[in-house]
Amino acid sequence: MIVLGIETSCDETGIALYSHEQGLLTHRLHSQVDTHAVYGGVVPELASRDHIRRVLPLVNDCLDEVGLSRADLGGVAYTRGPGLAGALLVGTAVGRSLGWALDCPSLGVHHMEGHLLAPMLEPEPPAFPFLALLVSGGHTMLVQVADIGRYRVLGESLDDAAGEAFDKTAKLLGLPYPGGPQLEALARDGDPDRFVFPRPMTDRPGLDFSFSGLKTAVVNTVASADAEPATRAAIARAFQDAVVDTFAIKVRRALAETGARCLVVAGGVGANQALRERLREEASAQGATVAYPRLAFCTDNGAMIAYAGYRRLLAGERDDGATEVRPRWSMDELSPPGEALPQ
Ligand code: ATP
Ligand code: MG
Ligand code: FE
Repeated sequence: MIVLGIETSCDETGIALYSHEQGLLTHRLHSQVDTHAVYGGVVPELASRDHIRRVLPLVNDCLDEVGLSRADLGGVAYTRGPGLAGALLVGTAVGRSLGWALDCPSLGVHHMEGHLLAPMLEPEPPAFPFLALLVSGGHTMLVQVADIGRYRVLGESLDDAAGEAFDKTAKLLGLPYPGGPQLEALARDGDPDRFVFPRPMTDRPGLDFSFSGLKTAVVNTVASADAEPATRAAIARAFQDAVVDTFAIKVRRALAETGARCLVVAGGVGANQALRERLREEASAQGATVAYPRLAFCTDNGAMIAYAGYRRLLAGERDDGATEVRPRWSMDELSPPGEALPQ
C-alpha cells in the first residue's frame, strides 16, 4: 500500500508518499514564511489561498519524482485538525476528493499524532511505551504513550505554547518571524549570567506549563535594558535557559512518575539544540533514551501525516461520509487504529 500524506493545518504545505514495503518514498514542503513575514504572523486567509495553489502541483511533483501515478495510491491521509479551519479545509477537500476519484480510502489524521509519530520515520524508531514531550507552535504537552492511539495527556500549557513564547519573545527582541530559530541563534552568544528569568510552575507539583509570566518578565526586562546587541543576546539566552530548564524539570518528574524508559521529543521547538542536549542529559541520568525526528520533521511536514495515516488505514480505518475539519481536537479523544469511537 502506498499512502499519500497531505498537511495543510497552518502555514506549510507538506506532501509525502509512504510505502508499506519501502517506508518513506519522498516528501515535499512549501513554506509560506515569506508570505506571512511582512505581517509578523500567520494570516489565515492568505494561508488557505496559498495551500489551494500548492497542494496538487506538490502531489504531482512527488509522484513524478518516484515514477508513480495517482492510480498507484492505496490511500490518502490528510490533516483534519487541530489547526486553522480554512487551511484544514483545503487539505481535507483535496484528500477526500482524491479518495473518491481514485476509489481508494481516505482518512483525516490528528496533526499532533503526526508530530508524535514523526520519530518512527527514523532508522532507529522508539519502542512503545514512551513519554512524549510535544513542543510546537500551538501546543505544549507531556503525553504518556502506551501505543499508537493510546495517549494520556499528563500536562499541557495553561496559556502560551512553547513555540508561541519563542516567537513572541523573538518579536520583542526585534527578530523577524518566525522567531524560534533566530532567537536560538542570538542566544548562542549571550552571557548566561546577566539576566535570570523565572522557571514557571516548577515550584509546585504537577506537569502543566505556563509561559505567559515568562513573557511578561522579558517585556519588563526589554523595557528597562539598553538595546545593545550584547544585551539582546543575553536576554535571548536567559529566556532560552528558562524554557529549557523548565522542560528539563518537568520531564524529570514525568519520567519518574511514569517509569518510562524512552523520551520522544517532537514539534518545532524540538529543533532547538540547547533543548535537545539538555533533555538528552536529563533522560540518560534517569536511564532513559531520547528519540527525536530529524530536524526537517520537527516542524510541519507531510511525511508524519502520511505515516500516521498509513498506520490507521492499514488497520482498516476510513473516513465516514461527512467532510468535517476539527480545528480544536484533543489527543485524549483518539483511540487505537481501527478502534475509532463513534463520533
Ligand atoms: P502546532 O503543531 O501546535 O499546530 P505548528 O505546526 O505551527 O503548531 P511547528 O511547525 O511544529 O508548529 O513548530 C513551529 C514552532 O517551532 C514555531 O513557533 C517556531 O518558532 C518553533 N521553532 C522552530 N525551530 C526552533 C528552534 N530552533 N528553537 C526554538 N523554537 C523553534
Ligand atoms: Mg509552521
Ligand atoms: Fe505542527
